[in-house]
Amino acid sequence: MRHSLKTKDDFSSYYKLSNTEVLGFAGLENLFRVQTTPYYASLSSASDTTNAVRKMILPQQAELDSGAQQMLDPLGENKASNRATSRLIHRYTDRALFLATDLCGIYCRYCTRKHFTASDQVLATDPQIEQAVNYVKAHPEIKEIIFSGGDPLTIGNSKLAKMLSAFYDIDHVELIRIGSRMPTVNPFRIDDELVTLLKSFKPVYFMSHFNHPDELTRDSAMALEKLVDNGVPVFNQLVLLNGINNDAALIYALSRRLLYLRVKPHYMFQADPSMGTDHLRTSIEESLQIQRQLWGHASGLAMPRFIVDIPEGGGKAALVPDYVTQRSGSKWSFKGWDGVEADYISPRQPQKPVVEDRYRQEWLR
Ligand code: SF4
Repeated sequence: MRHSLKTKDDFSSYYKLSNTEVLGFAGLENLFRVQTTPYYASLSSASDTTNAVRKMILPQQAELDSGAQQMLDPLGENKASNRATSRLIHRYTDRALFLATDLCGIYCRYCTRKHFTASDQVLATDPQIEQAVNYVKAHPEIKEIIFSGGDPLTIGNSKLAKMLSAFYDIDHVELIRIGSRMPTVNPFRIDDELVTLLKSFKPVYFMSHFNHPDELTRDSAMALEKLVDNGVPVFNQLVLLNGINNDAALIYALSRRLLYLRVKPHYMFQADPSMGTDHLRTSIEESLQIQRQLWGHASGLAMPRFIVDIPEGGGKAALVPDYVTQRSGSKWSFKGWDGVEADYISPRQPQKPVVEDRYRQEWLR
């Protein structure tokens, strides 16, 4: 991390920069910070501008274009109704997202949280942590805390343990999720000391972020295995990116490799219309087409769910291929992924189960 590439000089001593990348750096004062670990840079090509990993690291002139849609806060996280405290976002009923830090190991060009990430707010301060914890204490419906940012694993272990414990000690908080790109950009961060720490806050779920099979190296595989071997379930979230991974063959290869490493391919996100990302976004039609190509061919375990985050903080919309050809009364007609056509007829007497009060109360809380 200390040897990260940060300045244009750092990058031009490693990469043969193209004109569009040079122009990207020229507009940097208006752009999202550029930075990468040397490890992640080593996965990219120093000379080939079409290289997928390189496109996730380096800015291009197109980032300065206005594009079809540009939002500083596509998820509506700054809306008063969603921002519970300065570091806590409470958008969904039973979970809240804690902005542990704004620092990352790499600043992904497509980042959706440019309103916060790399804004030099660094670690949450003790009063900010206390404010977030007090909010969660006052909201018993919150059962999960998502540690995000920024990348929470840029935080040292002792400070991280202090933050985790502040939330873990709240009675109604059942589990903690950590969203981090460290297994991708600095897999050496996942060491014995860290997994011992995470185990002490069990159950901790880990959300990794691999977008391309080239990112899955021996080192990253070892990092993922260390997490899983130590009882930390890992789920992967990827973002579909124009000219980077928008091909079913790449998503399939990534998913099969992740599954082999016991990592569940979880979400396949449509890129959010974040500032300066028009050239990196796919169309929804293309993303759906990729999902349709995968459907049926990839096993259910290997299949990530395709999600569009509705702009303005509208929440997640899961899109699936539509196999319904006709509906008449209780009869639904389908044509499956490989062309098989059949009907499903719903039963006539639906019956509701008995729901004990304790389950009803938990649901309504
Ligand atoms: S690691 Fe996550 S928060 Fe950081 S720049 Fe990449 S997408 Fe944004």
